Amino acid sequence: MQSFYDLTLPELEKVIGALGNEKFRARQLYNWIYNRGVLDFSEMTNISKSLRGVFSDMFSTSTPVISDTLESEDGSIKFGLLTEDGSLIESVFMPEEGRNTLCVSSQIGCRMGCRFCVTGKIGFRRNLSASEIVGQIMAVRQHLGDMRISNIVFMGMGEPIDNLDNVLVSLDIIKNSLGLDFSHRKVTISSVGLIGGLQSIQTKVASLAISLNAANDEKRTYLMPINRMYPIREIIRFVKEFKASGRVRITFEYVLLKGVNDSLEDAKELAELLKGVKCKVNLIPCNESPYIEFKTPSPETIERFQAYLHEKRFITIIRDSRGKDVSGACGQLGMKYLEECAP
Ligand code: SF4
Repeated sequence: MQSFYDLTLPELEKVIGALGNEKFRARQLYNWIYNRGVLDFSEMTNISKSLRGVFSDMFSTSTPVISDTLESEDGSIKFGLLTEDGSLIESVFMPEEGRNTLCVSSQIGCRMGCRFCVTGKIGFRRNLSASEIVGQIMAVRQHLGDMRISNIVFMGMGEPIDNLDNVLVSLDIIKNSLGLDFSHRKVTISSVGLIGGLQSIQTKVASLAISLNAANDEKRTYLMPINRMYPIREIIRFVKEFKASGRVRITFEYVLLKGVNDSLEDAKELAELLKGVKCKVNLIPCNESPYIEFKTPSPETIERFQAYLHEKRFITIIRDSRGKDVSGACGQLGMKYLEECAP
């Protein structure tokens, strides 16, 4: 059966129209399902009984099933969700003052192989469908009840731009005012910088986070093999042009790894690289894991790094690592896949 969550509104209108129904039926369904959270067609009282029956035979509104929830002492919740084929997806809900962010996954595993990331160690298993991406939001939303999700970040398992078609469909649904209705500013895509694909999301999102992690190619290639294909100068050139379009806010993510990219020299090189680029820098102290070789720098080292960037007038934020104690923080998702393979 066709998943409802794979269809953008125009696609749904087409499918419904092909059956000889008026287009507004599609908007009614969107409203019931996304806006009001009613997933059972029999409860959609402004649609005739016979048509409800037709829709219920045509579309599935089931979501990935929450199989596991782990609550961190900081209030974050890591959700384990099972897809129809029994694959595990992880999503993390992070409540904080003024906003509640849900971090969603776009793939199972990841082929980018960043050295500091557990998901990268799994390797690539498969892309998530649009319905599995939207389904994470629907399932978590139903679970949370009154607690509203205010922001969506594509920073879970996988590189979103490597699953571009499905991510674009999910973005359409997430941002449609009759769909999940998240405004431009509330949705962030995080990418290693797959420049070709990033062009296509210019008009789709307001916020783009680029995972940089080093200010020279030698170090970045060591940490992120994809840098061979998209070296730093190309990323910076792209960001300058992207920014010039005025549509999108750019953040650079920089995971601080003890003794690797956390020195004052590294900070100086970074400041030099980003000179003249209108952006924000998020510093993310490395989240340690038995599966990665890197350690977290000391608080003094982190502060010194930030202070230097501040001195150079960069907006620089040290990002709290939420959900660390439940392996739900940045770079920690997917550990279960590695545990399964452990001897
Ligand atoms: Fe993939 Fe992101 Fe992990 Fe890199 S950091 S391996 S892109 S999930």
